[in-house]
Amino acid sequence: MMLKCQPTASHFIDGQYVEDTDGKLIECIYPATGEIIAKLHSATPKIIEMALSSAKLAQKSWAKLSGTERGRVLRKASDLIRERNHELSILETYDTGKPLQETLYVDATSGADALEYFGGLSGSITGEHIPLGEDWAYTKRIPIGVCLGIGAWNYPTQIACWKGAPALACGNSMIFKPSEMTPLCALKVAEILIEAGAPKGIYNVIQGYGDVGASLVSDRRVNKVSLTGSAETGKKVYASAAASMKHVTMELGGKSPLIIFDDADIENAVGGAMLANMYSTGQVCSNGTRVFVQSGIKKAFLKRFAERAAKIKIGDPMNEETQFGPMVSEKQRDIVMKYIAKGKAEGATLICGGNIIEGDGWFIEPTVFSDVTDNMTIAKEEIFGPVMSVFEFDNENEVIARANNTNLGLAGGVFTNDIKRAHRVVDELEAGTCFINSYNDAPVEAPFGGVKDSGVGRENSKAAIEHYSQLKTVYVRMGNVDSPY
Ligand code: NAD
Repeated sequence: MMLKCQPTASHFIDGQYVEDTDGKLIECIYPATGEIIAKLHSATPKIIEMALSSAKLAQKSWAKLSGTERGRVLRKASDLIRERNHELSILETYDTGKPLQETLYVDATSGADALEYFGGLSGSITGEHIPLGEDWAYTKRIPIGVCLGIGAWNYPTQIACWKGAPALACGNSMIFKPSEMTPLCALKVAEILIEAGAPKGIYNVIQGYGDVGASLVSDRRVNKVSLTGSAETGKKVYASAAASMKHVTMELGGKSPLIIFDDADIENAVGGAMLANMYSTGQVCSNGTRVFVQSGIKKAFLKRFAERAAKIKIGDPMNEETQFGPMVSEKQRDIVMKYIAKGKAEGATLICGGNIIEGDGWFIEPTVFSDVTDNMTIAKEEIFGPVMSVFEFDNENEVIARANNTNLGLAGGVFTNDIKRAHRVVDELEAGTCFINSYNDAPVEAPFGGVKDSGVGRENSKAAIEHYSQLKTVYVRMGNVDSPY
């Protein structure tokens, strides 16, 4: 029987679908029902070899095209993604369980934004002229070579494009390995790039568990690794990449603070905290999961949050009215339930939620804990689910010190109507991406990434160009060589 979302084959290499059923089985499960929707195979050494030789060969001629020519392909792919947004969003929903109300607006569309943006920049990637008296030097911004993208499961289309678009714009080729949890969407990105005119081999997708990622990271033909994943995996991948001095971009986890002062607009602060904790069922790396609320408004904030949380529409992700879907997997649901149990056991006050929703799929309720103290497990570890922890604070210096008291540093936010305080606080936050009176906006025009254990490098914006290219310096002597020998 044909499964609902079965792709033509597991991998997309050298412009076509390729299968090797000797690879370990990957069952793709729709998180809202538990139904198997596709069966794929992890890449065997034969598949890995095909992907590497194809990407290596294709990169050379791709890099010889002008930036404008490369950009044209990316912009065409962006147009095709927008035309097919509806079908791609349905696939994203099957892959992740995120509701269509989200996927129709933020997944394929943000992938299209990245292809459009970097397609536009591609013709402007240049070096500089450096006058040195009568001599001079110039720099060329050249590709890095074969780039490896490794994805997490929460934004499979977006991650495939956020890595692929700048890599291709700079004249690199890419091998993308999606998360084994969400293998489907990146295959569509690869198909669309070929349809848009990309030469075969420029963007290969191969499936696999961590071992496939690890074997690609250690291969000398890979020149750069860009990982989106947990800090734990990031450290392993970074160390392995160092053995052959590969460039890296690491987009890792977070435990980000969201600070709400007494003078904040309470409806906006509650809305921001909801976006920072409940969007994509809490499975967002930059989420503001440590919500510090100043004592004067804590009671009002919690009351309003609970009222609004009670109205969240939970259910069938394919219904466009639904606002909150299941967790991506049974395993992830169980991890989150363990954290909820720890929160209760360590003395936090459960304000709302906390339970599994019985029935098909891996649903849990939007959950809020109050009276959380800095040493509790839920205050320290990334949960990656819809669990918000509320802390109370009295003054600015105290809250900044507490907010920064973590090894992670992906994001941070502040809600206040005092404009000077807002800037003062974000200046002090040890985070790569900050928000003032907002949370979790990630437009392609602005850099995104973390500090401390949350990662290195930046995605999106002009900054990404520096992470997908390198400089070659050429010194030019106009006169005779003045040699002492
Ligand atoms: P994960 O670290 O378990 O896996 C990420 C990817 O790495 C998967 O494709 C996996 O197969 C691969 N992998 C695992 N071990 C590997 C190894 N040794 N070598 C090479 N590849 C290996 O993460 P996850 O559970 O898929 O995603 C959740 C995590 O990702 C969270 O910590 C979240 O915060 C983070 N994340 C970060 C961002 C960001 O942009 N900063 C975005 C989304 C998710």
